[in-house]
Amino acid sequence: MTVQTPVTTIEVRNPRTGAVDYRFQPTTPAELEQIAIAARAAQVDWLALELEARIAILARWVEKVDAAAPQIIAAVTADTGRHAESLREIGNIGKWITRWSDVARTALAVEPIATGNPDIQSIADYSPYPVLGVISPWNFPLSLSLMDAIPALLAGCAVIIKPSEVTPRFVEPLAATIAEVPELAQVLHYVRGAGELGAALVDQADMICFTGSTATGRKVASRAAARFIPCFTELGGKDPAVILEGADIERATSAIVTGATLATGQQCYSIERIYVHRSLHDAFVARLTEKASALKLALPGPRDGQIGPLTFAPQAEILARHLADARQKGAKIHCGGEIETHDGGLWCAPTVLSGVDHTMAIMTEESFGPLMPIMAFDTVDEAVRLANDSPYGLSGAVFGPEAEAVAVAQRLDLGGISINDAGLAPFFIGDACVAEKTAFKASGLGGSRLGRDSIKRFLRKKALLVNRSTQKSPWWFDA
Ligand code: NDP
Repeated sequence: MTVQTPVTTIEVRNPRTGAVDYRFQPTTPAELEQIAIAARAAQVDWLALELEARIAILARWVEKVDAAAPQIIAAVTADTGRHAESLREIGNIGKWITRWSDVARTALAVEPIATGNPDIQSIADYSPYPVLGVISPWNFPLSLSLMDAIPALLAGCAVIIKPSEVTPRFVEPLAATIAEVPELAQVLHYVRGAGELGAALVDQADMICFTGSTATGRKVASRAAARFIPCFTELGGKDPAVILEGADIERATSAIVTGATLATGQQCYSIERIYVHRSLHDAFVARLTEKASALKLALPGPRDGQIGPLTFAPQAEILARHLADARQKGAKIHCGGEIETHDGGLWCAPTVLSGVDHTMAIMTEESFGPLMPIMAFDTVDEAVRLANDSPYGLSGAVFGPEAEAVAVAQRLDLGGISINDAGLAPFFIGDACVAEKTAFKASGLGGSRLGRDSIKRFLRKKALLVNRSTQKSPWWFDA
């Protein structure tokens, strides 16, 4: 007798109303296995296509995405409660395909390399991992599901994506556009479900790209290690901003108020702690408070204001805990500071705090909200020590005269550092003309997502060594 495992419908909360208004049937592990088998078989034909043919297929997909833009944008907006960022998310698809196509044309070329031995020619060749598994989070549900998938498809991989169950609405309209491009539909699959399905994907794929929390990243990386497959993890952050004595306060406060509150601070590279030279401290706090107070919640509709709701309800508890802990230990709140409920959604206005220190969770744990705690420093050495005093090392910012700011940035244990701006790295995804970066410490492991060669993460490297001599090789047995 076959025992049927009941398929449990997953219920999804709307971030603006708090109501469950969307339900879906998760992909079962058995269905995932069948998808992986089919994707693995289809990848052979996908790889056999010329690169230009893969590029043309992806370009056709962009046309379908553009045609379905209203439905996709509506779904992402319902998933996240935000409109402006939903436009950016869908815009990324075409932009990234164009940029990565240009990169692929040069980066994927097979290269002859002269060895020191005139008889031996070396050829650097590549073979893509057949099936890439992507596991992505809820904060930018569409973009983060495709950030690694697009270069991987160009490199010749098939891709299976497991986005977060918290924000699954966008998958239906997006998958409909994929289905309209049959060649692509063979090698690009979305599966939907909770964490267990992500774990099951690790068991099916040949390589994993995981974006999410450090806690889950550890589990995914361990499981991938047991299978001996590569796993690239892009994890949490606690990005510092350092404001040096010679910094332009006007510029620094404008960049930081954006870098800390864009997408309601629900970005891995949000500025989450600010160290400002004591001589600027009071003026900086006052100006940042003015600018933060001028931002409006996105009410009554998602097109209003700048600050959307908290997408994932449990995040409100983390923010409330960080604020309560900071208050109880003596921090001063200059604006914001409360979790608000409007129409059933959970909100947090941009919040500026001073009088904070590293005994407070708000300075040491990832908050993932629009909180801007500010601490004064007296010397550059102290600022560097404080900025590096974190388990995370994703990215950060330094403001000040360029040479001084660059010198400070070089001492920070962070992968991507914006100088006199904040959060610059994501604007350069797929751009060949930007440096590579790795996540430091608990913010991740693996090759760079940024820079020309990052597409090579999806390739296994092959060294072909050709002996052109007609003579016996000196290292052969004399036989
Ligand atoms: P999670 O780690 O909770 O989830 C990420 C993904 O992993 C989701 O699809 C989740 O599924 C899935 N998952 C959960 N458990 C498992 C498991 N055992 N095995 C495999 N997959 C699993 O992250 P969040 O969704 O909460 O995202 C927020 C976090 O992501 C923050 O820490 C943020 O800093 C980080 N992040 C990092 C970025 C970077 O580039 N460094 C970019 C953006 C976000 P489900 O949600 O369905 O449970």
